[in-house]
Amino acid sequence: MQERKYHAYTLQNYKQIPQIRMLTDDQLEAIEVVGRVLPFKSNNYVVEELIDWNNIPHDPIFTLTFPRKEMLSKKHYNAILTLLHAGADEKTIRDKAHEIRLELNPNPGDQQHNVPVMDKIKLHGIQHKYRETVLFFPSQGQTCHAYCTFCFRWPQFSGMNELKFAMKEADLLHKYLLKHPKVTDVLFTGGDPLTATAKILSVYIEPLLGKEFSHIRHIRIGSKSLAYWPYRFLTDKDADELLGLFEKVTKAGKHLAFQAHFNHPIELSTEVVKQAVQRIKNTGAQIRTQSPLLRYINDQWETWAQLWKEQVSLGLIPYYMFIARDTGAKPFFEVPLEKAWHIYRKAYSKVSGICRTVRGPSMSASPGKIQLLGVSEVKGEKVFVLRFLQCRNPDLVDIPFFAKYDPKATWFDQLQPAFGEKEFFFQHHLSVEKEGYLMWE
Ligand SMILES: *Cc1c(COP(=O)(O)O)cnc(C)c1O
Ligand code: SF4
Repeated sequence: MQERKYHAYTLQNYKQIPQIRMLTDDQLEAIEVVGRVLPFKSNNYVVEELIDWNNIPHDPIFTLTFPRKEMLSKKHYNAILTLLHAGADEKTIRDKAHEIRLELNPNPGDQQHNVPVMDKIKLHGIQHKYRETVLFFPSQGQTCHAYCTFCFRWPQFSGMNELKFAMKEADLLHKYLLKHPKVTDVLFTGGDPLTATAKILSVYIEPLLGKEFSHIRHIRIGSKSLAYWPYRFLTDKDADELLGLFEKVTKAGKHLAFQAHFNHPIELSTEVVKQAVQRIKNTGAQIRTQSPLLRYINDQWETWAQLWKEQVSLGLIPYYMFIARDTGAKPFFEVPLEKAWHIYRKAYSKVSGICRTVRGPSMSASPGKIQLLGVSEVKGEKVFVLRFLQCRNPDLVDIPFFAKYDPKATWFDQLQPAFGEKEFFFQHHLSVEKEGYLMWE
């Protein structure tokens, strides 16, 4: 196959996209204004093969990577627009954009809390919230082949260095893992760690195949490359080397778990993505899939049922449906919890058992991953039934608990305990001050 050259489109050069002429003046203005605040990047594959330019602004993949006016509040939108009209200098605009970002909850879910300390050094590239699983953010993978407009890691891309979780030293990661024999999973994440070269990834991953790391059973890679740039596995210069690395992991008897982000069935429809999936599977790796539920992108049960069916036909394993986090353009994308559950349940009921490996809708909140099991009635009170899929305190996983029914709630922190109770059952077991990794030492 011939090499496909990657072209990124950002605020600097998006006018070179031939189809951009199909946008209205208002839509172009929105790119200029919103693109100053939220990260904006698309690429030639997304633009040419995934977006239907006859369906703007409703096209789900357009909404996924292009800024739209409604993604900012009127107040924030007008503040930037006024500066642009007045011909303000770059620095003034940048400062205003920075100020607005700080109002958009740039660091949700208490992520800073999970950064461990070893020998008095704060390990900024590591998060260790759940006993078995360590998240690692290779500093070379803190970008993506395109940016999602809903992304909760967006401060990492918009020049907010003080929030950047990045660590160069593979050494520190390996030392940390040697000290923590209960860890079985290392999850490489980002950004998209597969924007790093195969050589760099080898520096992190290959040592983990040695005898002293026998406790590390699962090497996990969270990536959106299959959806945004399948050529990463086909014609990029080090595509073969990358697949060779995957194969080394599986040949060493470890599980290479690829966590692929797919938000819409269109992302699974091209020939190249199908070929890329096949090549990854040929290495012995397994691909699990996850996505948040997003208004205007995938808020129909039919979309999810189709997504899971297509995935299973391609040999992928549906894994998580998330509720979008409370950050950035959340007011634009949010779906009430009750509606999310209806979409999940309806889609789940329409697919065969083989697709029902998925779990959701799930919220990654500070105590853990909380799944909404449904709406029910207990002793005359309408309630939400919830459980932990993951928890800082592993003993609390899978115990059903109850919150007052609230048809408007879109996130866990808006919920109250049911039955007039003062706190949720887990609250006296979990002190927020206590870091996860300290809790089970
Ligand atoms: C989801 C998640 C993981 C992985 O959890 P699994 O349930 O094992 O997939 C690890 N760390 C954090 C912080 C997470 O949100
Ligand atoms: S691929 Fe993931 S990390 Fe990258 S912009 Fe999208 S949601 Fe964010």
